[in-house]
Amino acid sequence: MGASMKILILGHKLQYEIQNVTTAFHPGQKLETVYEKQPDWDVLTYLRAGRQNSYLLLLVKTESGILRSHRRVPNSGERYKQRCETAFGQMLYTAYSGLTGVVPKWGILTGVRPVKNLQQHMAAGCDEPALRQLFCGDYKVTPEKFDLAYQTAIVQKQVLSPVDLRDVSLYVSIPFCPSRCLYCSFVSHSIEKSHKLVEPYLQLLLQEITLTFDLIDKLGLHLKTVYIGGGTPTTLSAQQMDRLLAAIFARIHHPLEECTVEAGRPDTIDLEKLQVMRRWPVTRVNINPQTLSDQVLQNIGRRHSAAQTIESFHQARQAGFDNINMDLIAGLPGDSYQGFCATLDRVLDLDPENITVHTLSVKRSADLKYSQMVRYSAQDLPVEAMLTYTVERLVGESGYRPYYMYRQKNTLSNLENVGYAKPGTEGLYNIYMMEELHTTIGCGAGSVTKMVDPRKNLIQRSFNFKYPLEYTKNFSEICSRKHSLEVFYGDLFQV
Ligand code: SF4
Repeated sequence: MGASMKILILGHKLQYEIQNVTTAFHPGQKLETVYEKQPDWDVLTYLRAGRQNSYLLLLVKTESGILRSHRRVPNSGERYKQRCETAFGQMLYTAYSGLTGVVPKWGILTGVRPVKNLQQHMAAGCDEPALRQLFCGDYKVTPEKFDLAYQTAIVQKQVLSPVDLRDVSLYVSIPFCPSRCLYCSFVSHSIEKSHKLVEPYLQLLLQEITLTFDLIDKLGLHLKTVYIGGGTPTTLSAQQMDRLLAAIFARIHHPLEECTVEAGRPDTIDLEKLQVMRRWPVTRVNINPQTLSDQVLQNIGRRHSAAQTIESFHQARQAGFDNINMDLIAGLPGDSYQGFCATLDRVLDLDPENITVHTLSVKRSADLKYSQMVRYSAQDLPVEAMLTYTVERLVGESGYRPYYMYRQKNTLSNLENVGYAKPGTEGLYNIYMMEELHTTIGCGAGSVTKMVDPRKNLIQRSFNFKYPLEYTKNFSEICSRKHSLEVFYGDLFQV
């Protein structure tokens, strides 16, 4: 194999699935996908559609020769594309696991939303044994991961009310942070470098929020949750936060299910800002340690201590918040199994209502490069064991339940992110957004308006400009894009 692994795709368009399964076994390996015959391929996939069946062939070059496998997939029947994907996935799984000894916990399941996948099968009438057979048998998911996804799906069924076509949530983006974390791939700007942008940005954001509520009212939509994220919204001053919340709540005349503010970084939180939030009906805050190791915090470019995080947590309680989420990341540079477990134990001592555990994911735009991250991967850093400890501690002993889950590209060992909550405190916005149950309207730089027709599982997206400066320069364009909501709901309500 050269510097990159060359995958030859012939006769089909299933390259996305094939790349993802390949990456699960070869993390950090550069892939090159080609579509025309050439001799120097490493993996060859071929599909030929016959009269009744399609013939699928996989060849994998190894040091001792070529591994060959093939399948026939009937052309008739439902979900033809998915059956071909699964067949290729299973052949790749067998070949790669034999060659590498790797057993990916999610098998050949590569999508972002494993629970949505489960929910769709449940809605089609699959019971638990049939789902287990499908996931653990066909998709090669381990029983441990199936159980986690299944429990999550059951919790969601318990906490969600029936979907209404007019339901929407609002996401508001504050794309500024006190400093940039090493692994960050968001559009967030360091407040030190872009301080001057904050006030003009906020002024336009308030206008976009007003326009958004005009459209919500005009279209007769029903706002269920609000999420103020970023970035770090608490980089705003107390007075700016007050103006933002005033602009939002001036237009809401019914009780929301939830309003969350990401108070992610303790170096931006103080009692005054928390009290401002409490004056408005903000119901949930995120105070995110990521780790409670000062050394690891330093490694990832965070300029605060673990003690500051704990102090912020107590301030949030003092301000009256009874629903606090704390985010942790498994697999941070320089962390260890013992270090991660100690962090989780200390967070549990604080007794937050929600704990969200992410697996480190590093995208191309992050300062930390994927190749660096892989050095900390599997052998060095037992992220799988960290996540297993998480489930044992939270679900087994402490009364939390998994309530939403998603997977990302380029995570260590291809693992997942899971939100855990004590019963009755689940972050509903997270479920609506992740399972794509209703429309999320995005306001602010880097946000996306995702319009959902739940009956047809149809999704349309409208993107805002990414960076604060772009946002301020192109504000009229942003306002005109918002009217895509009118087009979408005009069509939706005609039916
Ligand atoms: S706090 Fe979050 S958004 Fe801000 S730099 Fe760190 S990872 Fe990125």
